[in-house]
Amino acid sequence: MTRAIRVTKTDDEVRAVLRNDVSDEELGSGGEDVVVDIEYSGINYKDGLALAGGAGVMRINPLIPGIDLVGTVAASDSPDWSIGDSVILNGWGIGETHNGGLAERARVRSEWLIARPDAISAMQAAAIGTAGFTAALAVRALERAGVSTSGADNTGTAGDPGAEVLVTGASGGVGSIAVALLARAGYRVIASTGRANQRDYLLGLGAADTIDRAELETPGRPLQKQRWAGVIDTVGGHTLANALAQTVWGGAVAACGLVGGSDLPTTVMPFILRGVSLVGINSVECPLPEREAAWQRLERDLDLALLDSLTTSVSLAGAIEAGAAILRGELHGRTVVDVRL
Ligand code: NDP
Repeated sequence: MTRAIRVTKTDDEVRAVLRNDVSDEELGSGGEDVVVDIEYSGINYKDGLALAGGAGVMRINPLIPGIDLVGTVAASDSPDWSIGDSVILNGWGIGETHNGGLAERARVRSEWLIARPDAISAMQAAAIGTAGFTAALAVRALERAGVSTSGADNTGTAGDPGAEVLVTGASGGVGSIAVALLARAGYRVIASTGRANQRDYLLGLGAADTIDRAELETPGRPLQKQRWAGVIDTVGGHTLANALAQTVWGGAVAACGLVGGSDLPTTVMPFILRGVSLVGINSVECPLPEREAAWQRLERDLDLALLDSLTTSVSLAGAIEAGAAILRGELHGRTVVDVRL
């Protein structure tokens, strides 16, 4: 029997409960060839939604949430993995369409796993989690689109591009690690936050300055004064529209999230008059080579002492309250779940 958080939804209520009696068979739905003894999971925004029974995330009922897990292979029918291997799983539908990481065990498909890099501890790998992995995907996407520490591709035709990069939702999980990665790579990072009391935290991660998220939230013109060579956006809505409007000629914006809304109230003007690129980030179904490249980037560039300083740890039972807190916008940085506690 496995301890796990299980969310059950009826017409009347959603219940997230710590159970001690989930059988190994209940963990999977068929086709899994590896069993993982989980050490750590984490709390992402999506996990908060799943714990609240959010329809877009909770795709099976009942569900064990947790879009991340880090642990050790306990049994394997796959030639790719042996008992004792240290592994990471981010996305692929766990915690949504398949039982996830808020449990002591998981039954998963071998092709979803990657090896944990030696230099990154199990707890640090969970602290990075989908949030950090997504931040690395976004940084790589901006660079593929031509953004570099000296500005954006083909700049110089208009405005004063500089090399400022904007991160929105900056004190959250994706935002915090994006700030740290970009600053380490030499970008001048401007962190947008709704919490003035997080300014010192964001400067500590390497941000050059912060701006109030309210500046980006109100409806604006489709073309505004050019400022950003690149943007990593976790908010969506008017924030994303304004970010596009303020991006320099040839710059790029990586759209990661929707904490402020899933709409995009803009026009084609930033694209056709300034050659701005809008790149989408999907961590869930990201193919293996790009996954491995993003984790290598994290291994190379993420300051692990800084990561430790932005990480908070909770027990498996504590994950329920942490999920509610992330939806209320009360968490900052990353929250790891030690499933053995
Ligand atoms: P967090 O809750 O940790 O971070 C979100 C941050 O956004 C908050 O800390 C807050 O930062 C800011 N924020 C919160 N509410 C609002 C609001 N109403 N309007 C504007 N800003 C707000 O979440 P994650 O970092 O885990 O995820 C961020 C987003 O990215 C989510 O939408 C998530 O679903 C998405 N995501 C997408 C992935 C992908 O593959 N595309 C993968 C991972 C996440 P502050 O107080 O500093 O403003």
